[in-house]
Amino acid sequence: MPTKKTTRKTASQKPAPKTATTPGKAPISTAEIKESILSHLEKTLARDTNTATKRDWWIATSKAVQDRILSRYIDTMGVHNEENVRRVYYLSLEYLMGRLFRNNIFNAGVFDQVSEALGELGLDIDELAAEENDMGLGNGGLGRLAACFLDSLATLDLPAIGYGIHYEFGLFKQEFENGYQVERPDNWEKFGNPWEIMRPEYMQTVNLYGRVENRVDEKGDFKPVWVDTRSINGVPFDIPICGYGTKTVNFLRLWESKASEEFDFQVFNEGGYVEAVHDKAVGETVSKVLYPNDATESGKELRLVQQYFFVCCSLQDIMRRFLKKESDWSEFPSKVAIQLNDTHPAVATAELMRILVDEQGMPWDEAWGITRKTFAYTNHTLLPEALEKWSVPLFERVLPRHLQIIYEINRRFLEEEVEAMWPGDSGKKSELSIIEEGEPKMIRMAYLSVVASHAVNGVAALHTQLLRDYLFNSFDNLYPGKFQNKTNGITPRRWLLACNPELAKLVTGKVGEDWPKHLDELKGLEAFAEDPDFQKEYLAVKHTKKEQLAAFIEKNMGITVNPSALFDTQVKRLHEYKRQHLNLLHILTLYHRILHNPDYDMVPRVFVFAAKAAPGYYLAKNIIRAINKVGEKINNDPRVKDRIKVAFLPNYGVTLAEKIIPAADLSEQISTAGKEASGTGNMKFALNGALTIGTLDGANVEIGEEVGDDNIFIFGLEVEDVESLRASGYNPWDYYNSNAELKAVLDWLQSDAFTPGESGAFQPLVDSILKNGDPFLVCADYAAYIEAQEKVDAAFRDRERWAKMAILNTARVGKFSSDRTIREYADEIWDLPSVPVK
Ligand SMILES: *Cc1c(COP(=O)(O)O)cnc(C)c1O
Repeated sequence: MPTKKTTRKTASQKPAPKTATTPGKAPISTAEIKESILSHLEKTLARDTNTATKRDWWIATSKAVQDRILSRYIDTMGVHNEENVRRVYYLSLEYLMGRLFRNNIFNAGVFDQVSEALGELGLDIDELAAEENDMGLGNGGLGRLAACFLDSLATLDLPAIGYGIHYEFGLFKQEFENGYQVERPDNWEKFGNPWEIMRPEYMQTVNLYGRVENRVDEKGDFKPVWVDTRSINGVPFDIPICGYGTKTVNFLRLWESKASEEFDFQVFNEGGYVEAVHDKAVGETVSKVLYPNDATESGKELRLVQQYFFVCCSLQDIMRRFLKKESDWSEFPSKVAIQLNDTHPAVATAELMRILVDEQGMPWDEAWGITRKTFAYTNHTLLPEALEKWSVPLFERVLPRHLQIIYEINRRFLEEEVEAMWPGDSGKKSELSIIEEGEPKMIRMAYLSVVASHAVNGVAALHTQLLRDYLFNSFDNLYPGKFQNKTNGITPRRWLLACNPELAKLVTGKVGEDWPKHLDELKGLEAFAEDPDFQKEYLAVKHTKKEQLAAFIEKNMGITVNPSALFDTQVKRLHEYKRQHLNLLHILTLYHRILHNPDYDMVPRVFVFAAKAAPGYYLAKNIIRAINKVGEKINNDPRVKDRIKVAFLPNYGVTLAEKIIPAADLSEQISTAGKEASGTGNMKFALNGALTIGTLDGANVEIGEEVGDDNIFIFGLEVEDVESLRASGYNPWDYYNSNAELKAVLDWLQSDAFTPGESGAFQPLVDSILKNGDPFLVCADYAAYIEAQEKVDAAFRDRERWAKMAILNTARVGKFSSDRTIREYADEIWDLPSVPVK
């Protein structure tokens, strides 16, 4: 019971200034919020203050905040409907939202009132926040980007609706057992979700399977009809999305699958009651669980069903809204912009064609014109294993009519557009075909997305260039101007204001309170980068955040770490291309040096890792175990004298990122050049004053341009080097044989030194490097990485120099606000004006 009396927070502990009082309306008072919390405790939860648990208080407080948000949401929808505004619809299979409590309180502009009201009730806002489960409906960067975009869209007063799936189970929870990753289901709504509103009145029906009858209509025209389908229903759940310092409240609409009654009727009537209920359960598995793969596609039928399910529900919902105000379909692209977050929702292009041609009876060319004007597509990766392809036989079974439509799109594309550009060139036709020949034939969803969209964007300058030079090179020639760059961003509300209130307050003291909405204002900090007093305050904030993380590590893992050590952090999905194993080789190298030279002089480091591996990604799991086991040995070896500690925190997610990132000194962004499309973790770290050690990959390139070469540690092969090394025949053994330390640490990893009595525990990892060609060039970059780390060590010893570099990182990364990114999408892709809500 939360009856413990906490002392009221003093002004100096308050996380943020009152930046977000709503213009126009009188801000709500502390007394009103308190009354509202108490009222929800009684009327929503049927509790009194004596028996209320922390969870009850969390829900009651959330509901009190939600009340304010909902009245603004109603106002926003009123304005959008009345003005019949153009809207953007963001289609994404993933939204990695994290907790909403703190963010909603900040964005609604009621932080002071809520924390005071809770103080009067003897409650602590952080303790209540901790009651909420993360809304972890995404794998990593792609889903988190969608969440940052929703925050920016609302903050910029842009009419926008996000569509996705209401997964019953989000990304698995990760635990470690004997160093192994173990997955547990994430039943995130077990205790309810105070932020969502179920809207059964907007239920939609989705047809699947069946077959196409190729009929001819009374005028003699070909009129295929999709028959014998099975249907499921989609029920939407809405999550209001509150802009910061504005009245706009948009929403995220997530579809949950429900078995449809018709589907069951016949079986019921035939007396198959149990069978019918079983079938019902099958219908409800569609939205059951998020696929836990990051940057790989499994090609599973249920995944395709999920994609079509949410796309079909969303398009019907979009059309229903369109038809409330319009009757002329040619107006559709002027009211509707649809953004495809990767190819996962790409079947929407065929679905819109099906609705317009089959259901509305529109001529093909007209429907195609509308479709192309409506859609735009964001590409997130060049990794071949992540490029979505569906086998034609599987696709035909699930969506037979859509397969026909895709074939027709492809036929016209090849015969009209490709033929006009490259007459008689059958090589070009098979190169660009949406259908890849083979056994079986495959549908290239990226090509479908490019052909059916008016704009295609990459997510960092380098990534976009590589898309244009390689993956989509011929398309770039065919469609000049279609390919654009939109460098990713992060919301400064969550990734500085809310997660690092200490730094937020310090920054506000110097540059004023506009920076959360205008992140370029941080430039004003440059003037203080060499100011000794400011350096001291800045380092003191960093130290506070490191103490907080150290306490968290102690409490959760029993590992004692020194907050004065260099916190060297790599937190992101576990993937070979991200090269956590290169980081591990550095740790082993330092350990090796210490054992061979007991007085080895190094800045003490705490290596912080956090990463989930896809459950079926065997090598990634082996890397996790290797880091855990090497860490265990080092942490308990007295010869190390605490110069190295390794803490692999389990269950990486948004909430853990919010604790780790503010405490980081060094941000590891060490992917093989050309493999990381953008990265957004890199931006969060730099904003919070961690220096980057990284390759010239993804947005690291642009971070380097902004902060300056002196304030970042760039090392290793560049994209062209990677190409020429591969072309000249890369052999990892050459590096192994010529670098004694590399040889020593790889041999060490192959021994049973870290898993006594269990030999070969990390053979898969070592084999991937030495026997299987080292696909991510760990050996080739090893020496340069070790050297860059020595430069980090030297820089960290000079506290003034380090402070200056860190301050300049915070000061110069204003570009990476997702507000800037969304402004560019709105201006250059969506042609979407802001609509202020008064
Ligand atoms: C930002 C973020 C990511 C993306 O990190 P990268 O380093 O860009 O891969 C992944 N997961 C979570 C929880 C995040 O907050």
